Amino acid sequence: MSMLGHIPRTAVLAVAVLAMGMAGCAKEDTGGTTASGVPLIKTGSLTTCTHLPYAPFQSKDASGKVVGFDVALIDLVAVKLGVTQAIVDTPFEGIKSGADLNSGKCDVAAAGMTITDERKKVLDFSDPYFDATQALAVNTGSQVKGLDQLVGKRLGVQGGTTGEDYIKAQVAEKKLDIEVVSYKDLAALQQALATNQVEAAVNDLPVWNEYIKANPGKVAVAAGFDTGEQYGFAVKKGNAELLKAVNEAIAAARADGTYDKIYATWIGEKPAA
Ligand code: GLN
Repeated sequence: MSMLGHIPRTAVLAVAVLAMGMAGCAKEDTGGTTASGVPLIKTGSLTTCTHLPYAPFQSKDASGKVVGFDVALIDLVAVKLGVTQAIVDTPFEGIKSGADLNSGKCDVAAAGMTITDERKKVLDFSDPYFDATQALAVNTGSQVKGLDQLVGKRLGVQGGTTGEDYIKAQVAEKKLDIEVVSYKDLAALQQALATNQVEAAVNDLPVWNEYIKANPGKVAVAAGFDTGEQYGFAVKKGNAELLKAVNEAIAAARADGTYDKIYATWIGEKPAA
């Protein structure tokens, strides 16, 4: 109290009451900054935008909790920041366009999202944390071995994804008469394949591997397309503090074996480097 010196007690009290009143009025949590200087939209949480389901990167377990490879990596960032991860499920379009990060819906995007030049214009990506390719899945017993056998048929893709872009580009370039049908999420795409609404479906290889593990004997990977994709987490453009924390957490996990453990848990055996 000695610092207050000669300021009258009543004035101090008035300021204190005013501050309490303002705090009481504030209905919304406008976030804050962690001890290490990282701004967050909600105090005590690292809020993540994702698009469910996208196993093995993010999906709900039997209890309804969102789990997966991306979730485990972002948990490491949260621990580093001394907060807990809170996950928001939202359409992929708002994630990849930067709209969700810009509007303060979340701090970070983690959605098995491929780093592309177009997305880099609206998002700041972390260092790559996963390598992926595209794959063509068919129902077991199908004779389809590649795009050529899909002429005159329907091929399913997931809207807004790199798989959709890749297939549309291939179809145009090779002038293939394939009807490309876009589905709003992975679950709808897999359902379309299971019910023969499409002859084949394209998505990232690890999600087909996971689907085959979960539904043995139903689906097979007929072909792979080596698109050389890399996944990145994303933050709002200019959020250098959070981006640094994300990159440091990835680097630390790679260095101390945690990354390999998470990989083994969610993806399986690691391909030889
Ligand atoms: N990796 C793909 C992309 O970035 C698919 C991501 C997803 O559907 N969650 O477009």
